[in-house]
Amino acid sequence: MKHELMELPFGYDALEPHMSRETLTYHHDKHHQTYVTKLNGLIVGTKFESLSLVDIVKESDGGIFNNAAQIYNHDFFWNSITPNDTKMSTQLEKKIEDTFDSIDKFKEEFLTKATTHFGSGWVWLVLDKSQNLKIVSTTNAGVPLTKGLTPLLTCDVWEHAYYIDFRNVRPDYLSNWWSIINWDFVSQNLTNS
Ligand code: FE
Repeated sequence: MKHELMELPFGYDALEPHMSRETLTYHHDKHHQTYVTKLNGLIVGTKFESLSLVDIVKESDGGIFNNAAQIYNHDFFWNSITPNDTKMSTQLEKKIEDTFDSIDKFKEEFLTKATTHFGSGWVWLVLDKSQNLKIVSTTNAGVPLTKGLTPLLTCDVWEHAYYIDFRNVRPDYLSNWWSIINWDFVSQNLTNS
């Protein structure tokens, strides 16, 4: 099957000033698009041609994995942010407080992990197999799925996510990103898990 670039769930200007039209244009229309184009080319004539994106991520390695996983990760990332004012569900808020002591401590731990992740990758809030919340990072195209973890929220810490708006200052990108998190999406992921 041919994979398609997901449409952004908001307008290109909608996240300003936290994330600019220029960043979204490059990040979505160029970087994300390139992963889709490359994957469609790489799977021609392979057993992966008939598989869903998630099955490709689970069963492939090398270039096919890298491109498929980056599509999966970016789809998840766009769904993790919104221009709308959203709130954590009571269920999510309670689980975060039980795990990290407070919302503030959770935020601090998440942003510290994202700030200190070396090189390109992703930072995630996940549920482990025992339904415990964890903050984990993955390197390059790494995905929680292949480690038996269920993703609830992700932040892209590749430089292409922030270099236009914040140059090399990843912490400024992260504090802006925090204010556009789609807590409805995160809460729904917990409910569905
Ligand atoms: Fe990215």
